[in-house]
Amino acid sequence: MNPAIYNTLTRKKEELAPSTDTFRMYCCGPTVYGPAHIGNFRTFIVQDALRRTLECAGLKVKHVRNITDVDDKTIRESRKLGVTLKEFTAKWEKKFHEDCKELNMLAPTAEPRATEHIRQQIEMIGKLIENGHAYVAKDGSVYFKIASFDDYGKLSGIDREHMSTQSVNSAGEANNADEYERESVSDFALWKARRPEDGDNFWQAPWGEGRPGWHIECSAMSKEYLGDTFDLHGGGIDLCFPHHENEIAQSQCSTGHAPYVRYWFHSAHLMVEGAKMSKSLGNLYTLDDLLAKGYTPAQIRYALLSGHYRQQLNFTFKGLDDAGSALAKLRKAIDGALERAKMGEEDFKKLIAPKKDFEGTAFEPAWNAMCDDLNIPRALGEIFSALGKLGEGSVKDLKALGSILFALGIDVFEAQTEKQADIPAEIAEMAQARWDAKKSRNFALADELRQKLTALGWSVLDGKDGFEVKKI
Ligand code: AMP
Ligand code: ZN
Repeated sequence: MNPAIYNTLTRKKEELAPSTDTFRMYCCGPTVYGPAHIGNFRTFIVQDALRRTLECAGLKVKHVRNITDVDDKTIRESRKLGVTLKEFTAKWEKKFHEDCKELNMLAPTAEPRATEHIRQQIEMIGKLIENGHAYVAKDGSVYFKIASFDDYGKLSGIDREHMSTQSVNSAGEANNADEYERESVSDFALWKARRPEDGDNFWQAPWGEGRPGWHIECSAMSKEYLGDTFDLHGGGIDLCFPHHENEIAQSQCSTGHAPYVRYWFHSAHLMVEGAKMSKSLGNLYTLDDLLAKGYTPAQIRYALLSGHYRQQLNFTFKGLDDAGSALAKLRKAIDGALERAKMGEEDFKKLIAPKKDFEGTAFEPAWNAMCDDLNIPRALGEIFSALGKLGEGSVKDLKALGSILFALGIDVFEAQTEKQADIPAEIAEMAQARWDAKKSRNFALADELRQKLTALGWSVLDGKDGFEVKKI
């Protein structure tokens, strides 16, 4: 049996079977106009865990994730700074990759940029105009005619009765925004005619100068890298409508092939301390924000995976602390088992690999949970229940644990996990106070705290960006 997931399109849990020898999946990637926040990372990490689980199940996976490097936001921000769009987006793309690496995410098989696939987007729009699914408006923008596609709305279940077929709203304004609410469903922009505020950011199409709308890039690039029909498409739940609904319309009407995608995989949003994340509430966190508070990437990844992907996850600092304790417990159990099995850490690291040797092992229930709609919280619970069995030091169990850890992508060997596990809270606090004192040039206090720590049996070693506490 392959893993199963809930398919948004059929509203059923379905076993994932590739239609060719490779499982082809496409995930909507980041818009690179600033650092990604932990909500974005929840979605990307869940997708990474799905891919890893499929690989553990023995499937060959082709994972494509795009980079949105042209849209209203990227153009506006780059122009504000007076830099080229390329210069601006390259910086944030690099930062995104660094963050992904920290969070132990596998690099996608391909990561196409929208600006490097303008030709494919123009071709697709041309096809839609040619076959009557799209029309050129007076200003040179191009709109998709949703009345021309009977299946429009099936994925998200929007009410077709209330669909407008106009490209203008009741106020007579063109509806060419990339993102909009269900209430304003209407013909959407495939191409936006050049406007003064776009600056140099425009391309030449047969119907005039301008730039592609946001939705068309995913249709064009998924076709380029995965074909007219592929297996799975992922994104945060906010993308289900209109973005994914529009992708289906564009793709199926231009290629003539259906379905565009066989399984739709949507993850619910991340909330912070019970509230929607937003800059104005001061609860929008980036990876750097959390690292600066002393949390580790493995702890953050663990916390982001601790809720089921189809339920909203309430991210809390207590949740991060709990993730740290869970990781320390896991690490301790593994260290003990390795000792009994007379295995080194390096030997175990080799077992963290996509293998499917779970049958009859202590970790079979955890693997079954991973295959049951990617139920990671249940899998984590099963892992902890099975840790006791590691006492027998069975290599088979250690192998199975290695594979589950691969699927989760949680790095239990991250240096600080061990550190945090063994340092008593009062020592850690004292060491932090000493570091803070030193930073604020209060050397007398810093020295005093160091002496106290030494007397208690702990040494502190300062680095450029932080310190390390060790038992003397
Ligand atoms: P964006 O960079 O805005 O295009 O978003 C990248 C991905 O993050 C998309 O799949 C979004 O659906 C997802 N996303 C945005 N906000 C959140 C959130 N608060 N929680 C989870 N996923 C989110
Ligand atoms: Zn997309």
